[in-house]
Amino acid sequence: MHGKHHPPNSAGQVSIEPFDRRPEWMLRGHLQRKGREGEEDTVKKSVCPECGSRLVLFRDGNTPLFDAKCTNCNFMAQIKTPKGRPKTRVTGAGYSVLRKWLDSGNPVPPLIVNSRWETGQQIRLYKDIPESHIKPRKLSPNHRYAGYEMFTYVRLDRLQYKTLYLKSD
Ligand SMILES: [Zn+2]
Repeated sequence: MHGKHHPPNSAGQVSIEPFDRRPEWMLRGHLQRKGREGEEDTVKKSVCPECGSRLVLFRDGNTPLFDAKCTNCNFMAQIKTPKGRPKTRVTGAGYSVLRKWLDSGNPVPPLIVNSRWETGQQIRLYKDIPESHIKPRKLSPNHRYAGYEMFTYVRLDRLQYKTLYLKSD
């Protein structure tokens, strides 16, 4: 069973219609297999930016908008692990879930980007992401999940971030 543990928020719980749920989870599972190692690396090398406590991952597939949470406070974040040096654009996740989250009056979830390249690594936290930096896009007809709507974080170079981990070259 999926979707039972959406994080609570001031506006109540995110509701996802059954119609939407399956492709979201299918796609997430597909993408998550690729990202899981990077997520584990992220929580191993970072601590909570709010209170300094240990971060842990949510269990697979239970929380579409959040990958990690603090073991002490309410901090939660999405984690992305694109290959290479820090980028201005980072692929997000399924758009419909984020849209419902935002329409319920919630802010864009904090984003942790773990960038690794041959000679270095930087883990950044983007805490306040305006909605204008979220760009929805439909997957191309050639994609396995053609027509499915994803979103991309754009113009990250315009946003302030906090470095959670740095191994410089
Ligand atoms: Zn914390």
